[in-house]
Amino acid sequence: MMTTEELLRYDREHLWHPYTSTIDPLPVFPVAEARGVTIKLADGRELIDGMSSWWAAIHGYNHPVLNAAVEEQLRHMSHIMFGGLTHRPAVELARLLLSILPPSMDKLFFADSGSVAVEVAMKMAIQYWRAKGEAGKCRFATIRSGYHGDTWHAMSVCDPVTGMHGLFAGSLPVQYFLPQPPVRFGEAWREEAIEPLRSLLEAHASELAALILEPVVQGAGGMYFYSPTYLKRARELCDRYGVLLIFDEIATGFGRTGKLFAWEHAGVEPDIICVGKALTGGYMTLAATATTEPVATAICSGPSGCFMHGPTFMANPLACAVGKAAVSLLLESDWQGQVRAIERQLREELAPAKAFSTVREVRVLGAIGVVEMNEPVDMATLQRRFVDEGIWVRPFGRLVYLMPPYIITPEELTKLTGGLLRVINPEK
Ligand SMILES: *Cc1c(COP(=O)(O)O)cnc(C)c1O
Repeated sequence: MMTTEELLRYDREHLWHPYTSTIDPLPVFPVAEARGVTIKLADGRELIDGMSSWWAAIHGYNHPVLNAAVEEQLRHMSHIMFGGLTHRPAVELARLLLSILPPSMDKLFFADSGSVAVEVAMKMAIQYWRAKGEAGKCRFATIRSGYHGDTWHAMSVCDPVTGMHGLFAGSLPVQYFLPQPPVRFGEAWREEAIEPLRSLLEAHASELAALILEPVVQGAGGMYFYSPTYLKRARELCDRYGVLLIFDEIATGFGRTGKLFAWEHAGVEPDIICVGKALTGGYMTLAATATTEPVATAICSGPSGCFMHGPTFMANPLACAVGKAAVSLLLESDWQGQVRAIERQLREELAPAKAFSTVREVRVLGAIGVVEMNEPVDMATLQRRFVDEGIWVRPFGRLVYLMPPYIITPEELTKLTGGLLRVINPEK
């Protein structure tokens, strides 16, 4: 067996981590195990998790119910192809999801990751318009500061500045970008905020297949919360101009914003919806794209006669089994109470950061707490200091943020917010 030193050396020499250089990689911390909200490093140090492994581990790590679901499924089969075959975990998870997604959702496609779910949603929109004889409707509109994944077309609708547009300019499909909705969550709606969308749709509806949005909360592209009324107006305008509406709920889904799904803040339903991340409680990669009966029927009445996508590991039984267990666990829990309590505590305990000269803004919604700094942070330095504080926080750019597992206790959350404030406090 490799020693931790050997493991770290091999990692440094041969492994790519998310968005890192092989020439000068940022340091990584070896994890031995994770349990509840605690990440245990190989050297025995314990960290309180503030990230839920990127929105996913909402129930905490090593959960007995989720472990049991995987073990039980393992005794039957870990995988079987989904072409021509089906199985209980896929059907039961689909039925459960369709019972909690917007009521008009009727047909569900299992994808292997969030990015693939977004690709699937975009392909659905294109195939829909082709089937309707409108092949010219093949572009997408979105708002700035969004994030929809790292694969090709998902990347094309990420923020053009913080995303990878510059790097891939010339080869990435060109989409239409709208300003970030200027009315924030909780502010009084201003009608002029929808004018850019209205004029874009008026001018370009004949080229547009769909408008894609992260409802209410923009995640990795900016950690920004905007008025649900924007979604209401977007729905009205998409209907008026004949453009499909896609909600990417991969980050916002499963309770994180205080509603089970963020579309519920506005009460308007999309034509296509993507979920992922917390779907399996962070156990395995799985995502899903759902759409309405009319959209699905139109797609399948088109020239291809079917929807053209089918991953090798589609509806992986282990992932579906743990997905069903994770969603059931959420629905049976007092997640609303937990998220509300986390929200209240984040508001109170992050508030002192507003007075720091280096901080631009502090904002909280649901179980998401964001400290926006004036300048981009030095990730490597900050990361090490967070670890020294016994907390796991992964900032990016100017954003230092927390989205802990819902099962975090008030004491653990205080440790997280206290450590965060100590590290970013310019006086210390
Ligand atoms: C993370 C994320 C994705 C991409 O999901 P992956 O599983 O990382 O491919 C897409 N959309 C949103 C809103 C996300 O937060």
